Amino acid sequence: MAFWRKSTYQGEFFGLVLLFSGVLTGCFLSFQHRREKDFQVERLDSRLQMVNLRIADDWLEGAQPDSLFLHYASHFDGLRLTLIDTLGHVLYDSEAVGREASLSNHLDRNEVQQALLLGQGHTLRRHSSATERDYFYSALREQEIIVRTALPYDWSLIQSMATGSRYIWITLLITLLVIFASFLITRRLTQNISYLRQFSEKLDRGEEISDLGKFPNDELGALSKHIVDLYARLQTALAEADREHRTALQKEQEKVLIKRQLTNNISHELKTPVSAIRGYLETLILNPEVDPEIRRAFIEKSYAQTERLQQLLQDISLVTRMEEAPRMIEREECDLGEIVREVIDEFRPKSEGRMVISTNITSPMPLYGNQELLSSIFRNLMENALAYSGGNEIRISLLNQSGEAYRLCFSDNGTGIEAHHLDRIFERFYRVDKGRSRKLGGTGLGLSIVKNAVLFHGGIIEVRNRETGGLEFLFTLARHA
Ligand code: ADP
Repeated sequence: MAFWRKSTYQGEFFGLVLLFSGVLTGCFLSFQHRREKDFQVERLDSRLQMVNLRIADDWLEGAQPDSLFLHYASHFDGLRLTLIDTLGHVLYDSEAVGREASLSNHLDRNEVQQALLLGQGHTLRRHSSATERDYFYSALREQEIIVRTALPYDWSLIQSMATGSRYIWITLLITLLVIFASFLITRRLTQNISYLRQFSEKLDRGEEISDLGKFPNDELGALSKHIVDLYARLQTALAEADREHRTALQKEQEKVLIKRQLTNNISHELKTPVSAIRGYLETLILNPEVDPEIRRAFIEKSYAQTERLQQLLQDISLVTRMEEAPRMIEREECDLGEIVREVIDEFRPKSEGRMVISTNITSPMPLYGNQELLSSIFRNLMENALAYSGGNEIRISLLNQSGEAYRLCFSDNGTGIEAHHLDRIFERFYRVDKGRSRKLGGTGLGLSIVKNAVLFHGGIIEVRNRETGGLEFLFTLARHA
């Protein structure tokens, strides 16, 4: 069933070739058969015409019809001899000797008419009412006489006129060869089609296209290969686009998650100073008679909390600006040497002589960037070193520089940080010691600002504990980021 329903291109093509060969062979065989038959009839007629000619000659020379008949009857089985005049009267008939006058006029006989008209003629098969048999007739006109010989149209005559079968076998053999050759040719021609069919079926099933076999080395083969190659390329491109799309989606989801975390963290961070302020103010409102010293202490504490709140809001705004709209942050020609000097000048008095701050950085150190962010890098690192390191030395060094970037190191000689915290200290609101950080006014955003500011300036930053104690931040800043 499936075979018939699913006819292949080769099947159809080969079927057409078969049909064409069949029709051609049939026509040829029937034509050849007719020719062979005509040839056999002509041969028999020629033999009888020779006899007719001799009989006519002998008779005209005076021989008796009976003796003539007897002479030739021995050469042909069942031979019948009829002599007719040009008016159609039967003069002698070997099957009706003595009864000739009773026979009908023979002018209407086909072979007789031909003989009168053309000199000779024959009739392949006709029934004789005189003998009640079928005959093959052959007639010849010689002067005023028509000699007609006839042979019974029986099995032996049919056999003698049978055509040979050699040409049939030869024709069939040639046809078979043609069919076989056309099978090979159509198979070769349709191989590409079948490759393409396999290819489209694989596509339909959504299978991966790998090697479909060797394509024949011709134009159609090249075309098929080209189509398959194009599809393979399309498949790769689609897979690539899909992968990119998924990565982008994942990044987007991560961003949303981080934003949600940030919002949660921010509201959590804001709650602490706000509820502290509220507590102090509530106490003061509920106790108007409170001791003036306590009142002052509460007001000062509230003020300190508002400062912390302000710092927190500033930091949040900076981080958000760097992450959400880095393009909105302006750039200008800056001098890194000057920025470092200003930060050192600002922090020296704050260190109250506890810390020795040193640097090998000198002006000018030109850099195209954002003054505020560059300053925030050194300020935050400085604040942290003062607050958490517990050391007595801070060093800001220029390690090397190129036309592209500066490589810097910010280090202290304090306690450093336990190794398992190092990977996370750049995260927003990550603190090693929460209580201590809050107490010291830390927002938990300092190092996050530092990292983002370095990234904004086309650099990278890493942190490690120094072998001799303390922490060091190694970072680069691009000169023309
Ligand atoms: P914070 O607002 O708490 O200062 P940061 O992001 O600036 O937040 O710092 C994260 C944590 O890293 C700090 O809480 C502190 O514990 C630790 N830290 C930062 N700098 C140093 C340093 N120089 N020495 C030791 N610990 C440090």
